[in-house]
Amino acid sequence: MITSTRVQTPSRFRRLVLDRVDPAAQPLPTTIKKLYVWPTADCSIGCRHCNYASPKKSTDPTRRAIADNVDTIIEFALASGAANVTFCGGGEPLDEPDALLHVVDALAPTDIGFGLYTSGHSNRYDLDVDGLVADLARRWTAGGGGDFRIRLSVDFYHHERIGAAPVAAWLRAVDRYAPWMAADIRATQLVGDDSLTAVADDLKATIVPLGARSARLVMPSGRVVSVKSKPLVLDGRISLDRLHRDGLALPDAQRQRVATASVRGGRRVGRVLSNRLPVTTKRLDYEIRADGECRVLEVGIPDNVKYVFSDDWPTIRDANLADPIVHLVAAGGMTALGNRVQLAVGHGLVVDAPHYSSKALRSSAAADIVTATAVAELARTAPHRYSTEVRAEADAVLAGLAGTATRWFDALGEGLT
Ligand code: SF4
Repeated sequence: MITSTRVQTPSRFRRLVLDRVDPAAQPLPTTIKKLYVWPTADCSIGCRHCNYASPKKSTDPTRRAIADNVDTIIEFALASGAANVTFCGGGEPLDEPDALLHVVDALAPTDIGFGLYTSGHSNRYDLDVDGLVADLARRWTAGGGGDFRIRLSVDFYHHERIGAAPVAAWLRAVDRYAPWMAADIRATQLVGDDSLTAVADDLKATIVPLGARSARLVMPSGRVVSVKSKPLVLDGRISLDRLHRDGLALPDAQRQRVATASVRGGRRVGRVLSNRLPVTTKRLDYEIRADGECRVLEVGIPDNVKYVFSDDWPTIRDANLADPIVHLVAAGGMTALGNRVQLAVGHGLVVDAPHYSSKALRSSAAADIVTATAVAELARTAPHRYSTEVRAEADAVLAGLAGTATRWFDALGEGLT
């Protein structure tokens, strides 16, 4: 069985909550929409901005346990009703090509779609991109597979490591060997980043801007490639200081948002700028990390960790649906989590963790406060979600904060539902 040092024992309060909240009473989906999978947590590329800080190579077998046990993923995807499995990082999926081909073979005959989020390159293998794309297309169509999407990362830091050629090679190969395959670009919103232009030049493509966050690349063949830009996650290796040293900057509005959200100068604040995660009361995406940890996307709560190697889907589902922190993120996104972590920060209970990240919940006192605030606020409009006992215990935790919690909620005025 895979174990992790990140597992944390729940406090008495959290234990009571996790045992007493009824998963079936929650207005949340009971199947997975998209299952993100990290085949590895290592990455041979080693970008200087990697928010996962993925090492180039490690000797810890748990960092690539999924790559060695792909069948576990396939069984889990089928059991959980996942509509899509997407290989991503964590680490670079192309560092594990055998796992990639295996999962494509296994999913092609099912009605589960497949996605690959990648830099387009591996420094571990000498990839023949034309051959790989043609092989993926042949395997997928032989099994009668449905949706297949490739998403390529393009930004200053990927470009610094691998240049424009790998992304251009993937887009040319898709155009030539698998024109039915969806392929798009995920860029980053940074002032001073010319990497997309370099890709367009390599392809002899035209960039058609569509606003601050999106564009189209029109290839010489006429194929249109969608480009969506996402804000940085300020965690791992990236910080505002590093951006500044590299001659880059956040757009003005984002800089102001970080300044108001962080008491630590934006060095590691997490997902304060990110678009809303696909974690809502209507849709739950999950991720399986390279060591087998399975969580609602980006909502890894250290004292409620489950693993696909030791826990089945009903156990994992119920553990998440019983956790008011998951309810909070579904109702208000990572912003709602971060805003409530600030209450713990104000009491000196979170010291060295990004506030807009579930890493802040490594502090069990912070996990208690966020849980108690979630129960108190969500019970305002839907008291049936939590038993009288759970609500009373949450109120007792908040009473320990000498009334500041109530004032904090009123100031936030978010109206969670
Ligand atoms: S390619 Fe992705 S996973 Fe690898 S270092 Fe760069 S950002 Fe991190």
